Amino acid sequence: MSCRTSYAIEVRERYQDVAGYRWPVVVDAQPDELLSSWLHRLSIANGVAPRAFSGEFGLGGGMWSVRLELRPPQDVAAWLGVRTGKTPEAIMAMTRMDEALGPLVLPLRETARRGRSNWLQYCASCLADDRAPYFRRSWRLASRISCFRHGCGLRDRCPACRGGIALFAQRDLIPQHVCARCNFDLRNCAKISVEAAARRLERSIDDICKAELVKNSSAIHEWVARLRHVPVVAGLGAGRTLANLPTSSRIR
Ligand SMILES: [Zn+2]
Ligand SMILES: [Zn+2]
Repeated sequence: MSCRTSYAIEVRERYQDVAGYRWPVVVDAQPDELLSSWLHRLSIANGVAPRAFSGEFGLGGGMWSVRLELRPPQDVAAWLGVRTGKTPEAIMAMTRMDEALGPLVLPLRETARRGRSNWLQYCASCLADDRAPYFRRSWRLASRISCFRHGCGLRDRCPACRGGIALFAQRDLIPQHVCARCNFDLRNCAKISVEAAARRLERSIDDICKAELVKNSSAIHEWVARLRHVPVVAGLGAGRTLANLPTSSRIR
């Protein structure tokens, strides 16, 4: 008796005819996720390393995804919308940081320098808790030094190689909680303790900023300017602003 199994093979429509320009895999953005973080997760889910994914946007290397996040052209949001099924508004919302908070946004720096801030902070415990580890927009603000959920201090560099976070430079299909420079798993960082008084002050600053933004009050500008120059008041040097200090100094 023959045990041969026959398979029905059928020629179906071409992928592009069915899916159009949609990428095969679409991942949903997480609450407060940075556009760059979402782009890196999208690229890996579709089998392209983040560094090579910059070519999709016609961008060179460097901090391509972060630059895109700072000034996303409307046509890029529409282009991404066609490929992911998301609305351009939802995509633009991932980039939106209130303009009034601009002076508190950490400056872009591709290479970490001792005594200087880096562009992005993170909480290792948040990354460890995430089903798909991602980076939050609030971690771009110099006014933030700790995680409201875990109570521990944020970090702005990899504890193994001391380099800044370089998600955009990952050349392999490795998730973004792994350091792109040395492969250290950032979820395994030791906890940094922050004094309760410092955490209370940070929370108050955050509450005041949010309240002033909701009120659309012009007082927010003066408030942010004073915060920005706190290092001068603290005697850390005339030219230092809050956004220029590394997270460890701001915690101190
Ligand atoms: Zn956390
Ligand atoms: Zn590293």
